Amino acid sequence: MLACAFLFISISCSAPESAQPKNIILLIGDGMGLSQVSSSYYYGDATPNFSRFKHIGLINTSASSHKITDSAAGATAFASGKKSYNGAIGVNSDTVSIPTILEIAEKLNLSTGVVATSTITHATPASFYAHAKSRGMYEEIAKQLATSEVDYAAGAGLRHFKNRDDGANYYDTLDAREVILDTTSLTTIDKICAECKYMYLDTGGAMPRIIDGRGDYLSDATRLGLDHLSRNEDGFFLMVEGSQIDWGGHANNAEYLTTELLDFDKVIGLALDFAEKDGNTLVIVTADHETGGFSLSSTPMDDGAWSDYNQVTGTFSTGGHTTTLIPVFAYGPGADKFGGIYENTEIFHKMLETTGW
Ligand code: MG
Ligand code: ZN
Repeated sequence: MLACAFLFISISCSAPESAQPKNIILLIGDGMGLSQVSSSYYYGDATPNFSRFKHIGLINTSASSHKITDSAAGATAFASGKKSYNGAIGVNSDTVSIPTILEIAEKLNLSTGVVATSTITHATPASFYAHAKSRGMYEEIAKQLATSEVDYAAGAGLRHFKNRDDGANYYDTLDAREVILDTTSLTTIDKICAECKYMYLDTGGAMPRIIDGRGDYLSDATRLGLDHLSRNEDGFFLMVEGSQIDWGGHANNAEYLTTELLDFDKVIGLALDFAEKDGNTLVIVTADHETGGFSLSSTPMDDGAWSDYNQVTGTFSTGGHTTTLIPVFAYGPGADKFGGIYENTEIFHKMLETTGW
């Protein structure tokens, strides 16, 4: 305040330009606790991209209704800054719609996007563009995406737009709105006009697992999204979810989990490459909660000895979620605000604070 008092004649007392990012890339590894992050150091070939962050914090992820959150309440906390009940999509604990960071960015004429390896109507991405009292209302959520201002979306879930139980066809709605649509493969940037909206809606019930041959879909969808959204000189908000890290945890399948985690780490790498080059982009990597009570324990030995401390095995304590504190990694202008231990809702407030949105 003292500095401001002396400087009041000058143009501004606010933070220097360099501390205010134009763009946000929010990367959510669903179910990604610290052991999941740590697995990239034991199962990957290269140094994990997590090592590139200097600003790291921890969040408490509890929901308003439960000590252990689900993905809907977890994503709603990030998207809207309010603790809500498990199952809530962009609504508060009284089921009232609350504005999301994506909608706030749209109002400022910034570009927005959501990418997932689940359906695009699944709880995590939905909480950024939709408002529904229950996460299972997929057709309502699809309708809201089809009539939204979202500029870029990629994920599975075509069936929630077309072939719906209610007989409506929101694929046709998107088509009539001249949204560029794909259902079999991602297009290339030269096929998306700068002012156009693009959606990739895969026909599957989810994108395939990495171990079933998904390949580089998540990196490709993220790169295409960055190429398209960054055409808006005023800025953009992009949320990318590694949706199936959570499903590997639910399945208590360490190979499923770690291959999804390593795929997500590649996306972190390309987001950081973009941000390094751009200089105006804040990258935040975090998770809604941990799944599976995953741990990297020593491998039990056959001869009855306790364990071999030179061998690491992924083990689980539950088929559900846990409430362990979750790491937050931040890079770019404003990243220093993400250190410390705080509530998951603070992610929303810190994003607004750093961008001034
Ligand atoms: Mg999710
Ligand atoms: Zn889950």
